Amino acid sequence: MNLGLRFLGCGAAHAAELGCSAAVVERDGTPLLLIDCGADTLNRHLETYRDLPRAVFVTHVHMDHVAGLERLFFRTYFDPARRGQVAMYAHAALVPHLQARLADYPEMVAEGGANFWDAFRLVPCSRGFWHAGLWFDVFATRHHAPLSSFGLAVRGAFAYTGDTRPIPEALAHYAPEPALIAHDCALQGNPSHSGVDDLEREYTKEQRRRFVLYHYGGAAEGAALAARGYRVARPGEVLALPAPVAGAMLHEPAGVSA
Ligand SMILES: [Zn+2]
Repeated sequence: MNLGLRFLGCGAAHAAELGCSAAVVERDGTPLLLIDCGADTLNRHLETYRDLPRAVFVTHVHMDHVAGLERLFFRTYFDPARRGQVAMYAHAALVPHLQARLADYPEMVAEGGANFWDAFRLVPCSRGFWHAGLWFDVFATRHHAPLSSFGLAVRGAFAYTGDTRPIPEALAHYAPEPALIAHDCALQGNPSHSGVDDLEREYTKEQRRRFVLYHYGGAAEGAALAARGYRVARPGEVLALPAPVAGAMLHEPAGVSA
């Protein structure tokens, strides 16, 4: 089993040419799980895989991470083979925000009879969730209000921070060596996002060696980050991941033990 992480987009909210930050966990080249779904994410997913996502994890509910979910609703709801089958994993604390921003709009279709959640199989989680035989850890990050933003990891393989200020204690736990760490980073930090100076102050050299930076402000900013010695994600790029630790993989068929 070979896992990969493909960046569909790696831009900050204003960096349109880089795409909305979103990534796909792949297994043997097949898409397993989409992380975030901004306005342009479904087009990029279709161009890459000739298919729509069958599972999505939501890091937080800013529009550059969830605007594409309305379109995914329409594509899923009107496809009898997919309706109600697309898994949506989100921390339980995000469910009220998803409800307010996406699901509460009056009449999802003009003729009535449809609810936003009819298209999806919502799986609220707290510590994490099983998907496709892998355990995905979910951990709180630092982006606006507490408990409004979450990262994702498969222990030993990768951690994806989502939008965040530095979270060294979380990554020390959820991203042990040799896991790749996809980290929010621009040249300048702010109260909402990490800057390169923040990374150098907060993380060990060993952690930074495993970073791949995304959610930056444009191609020139990406080049400046690379010039400082960091690996920088490019839209469309796929990175091979180390094998997960044994406890993050299901070895027995589901249902063999209580
Ligand atoms: Zn955000």
